[in-house]
Parts: sequence; C-alpha cells; structure tokens
Amino acid sequence: MSPSKELKPFPPVRRQLIVFDFDWSLADQDSDRWVLEVLAPKLRQKMKDLKKDVQWTDLVAMTLKDLHELGGTREQIEEALRIMPFHPAMVRSVSALKARGKTAFFCLSNANIIYITTILKAKGLDDLFDEIVTNPAEWDASGLLKLRRRIDPSGPQHACQVGCSPNMCKGDELDAFLKKHQPDFDRVIYVGDGANDFCPVLRMRKQDVVFCRRYRGLYNLIKEYEEEGRLHPRVEYWTGAWEVEALLDQL
Ligand SMILES: [Mg+2]
Ligand SMILES: [Zn+2]
Repeated sequence: MSPSKELKPFPPVRRQLIVFDFDWSLADQDSDRWVLEVLAPKLRQKMKDLKKDVQWTDLVAMTLKDLHELGGTREQIEEALRIMPFHPAMVRSVSALKARGKTAFFCLSNANIIYITTILKAKGLDDLFDEIVTNPAEWDASGLLKLRRRIDPSGPQHACQVGCSPNMCKGDELDAFLKKHQPDFDRVIYVGDGANDFCPVLRMRKQDVVFCRRYRGLYNLIKEYEEEGRLHPRVEYWTGAWEVEALLDQL
C-alpha cells in the first residue's frame, strides 16, 4: 500500500522507540469500562456517577470488589477482556514493525497489568513489549482482582503540574524509561488518545513523532499547541487503526 500523498516521509533511523498508550490507542476500547459493560451495567453506571469524586484507579478497584461480591468470576473477567474490540490492523502493523527489528516497544497505561497482559495474550502479542508500565494488579485465591495505584497514595506523590492522575505521571515514566535505555533513541514515536498522554508529549523532541487519535482528550489539548507552534514533536492524526497501520508501515 502506498502512503497518502500528503504524508511527509519519516527520516531513516537506526534505533527508535515506540510508546503505546493502551486504552483507545493500542486497543480499540477502554478496558476498565468495558469489563463492567459486559458483566455488570449497574456497576458501569456507578463508575460514571462517581468518576468526578473518586480517583480513577481507586474507583476501578472499588467496582472490581463490588463485582466480586455480586459473584463475578475471574473467568468471566478474562473472557470479557478476550472479546474486547482490538483492531486486526493494529495487530498486523505492530507485528510487522516488531519484525523489522530496529524498534523498542514500551507500553505506558493507566489500566492495569492483568488487563493488558490478558488482552495481549489473546491477540498473540505476548512478546510485543520490552516493558509495560501500568498499575499493579493480582488475582487473589477467591478470584478477586486486587488493583492498586502505581504510586502508593500513602507515600511520596509525583509533582506533575500538567494534569496527570495521582496514580502515575506518564511524563516522568517516559523520562525514566529513556534514562534507563541509553543512548538516546534516534526517534521516539508516541501513540496516544487521552488527556493523560499530553504530559509525555510535552517532553518530546523535534525529531520525535506523535500519532494522536482524533476527537479525544489528547486531540483537544494538542491542537491549539500545535497550531501555535508550541509543540516540539511532529504530529500525525488518525481516527481508525487502519490509518495507524499506514503510518507504522512508513517507520
Ligand atoms: Mg487511552
Ligand atoms: Zn505528568
């Protein structure tokens, strides 16, 4: 497939990093909401009602406890995750990019490690990521999924002023990853959609690229900055995963 006429070619690089947000970026749904939409619509409504008052990770942990008390099982949650929308073009394009060799893969997500690894396994993408940074979670013997914030609320908190959720500053996490994987990558590509992806995008360089999903939180924040020339990285917009595929094929 040839790239669209308007697409400016990406310069060749020897070594690059691709960072994926998970919900609505790599996956074509929001895993926290989806599980309740499949298994317990009343808890999905509760989540919506409490969203403004309870920190998101705490709220997901709370509704998982509710679900467990109502008899929701580990098997049901795992099955709901396996059937969550995930575009075949995304599976195809990340697999092809991985196979070409020169790209490191990093997942940076406010979901949780159980949801992400269960879904990746269902898509045959177990080995895609070199590292996944997200909220910790584990099944207990009774089948309850115990979820915690990445940053413990009782310890020191991050100092981010951009608007990251208390459980994690994605900009700090990206900086920490880059520091750990020296030398600097020739290019960093960030695939994201949410308001919480804005902080890392603000820290990216001129040679980096953002693949921003249209009409969601990140898009609303980025547009003004980009129009005013206040963003360092290049931005390419997409709506469906088939458009990400066309972009990834050019990297
Ligand atoms: Mg997202
Ligand atoms: Zn931040």
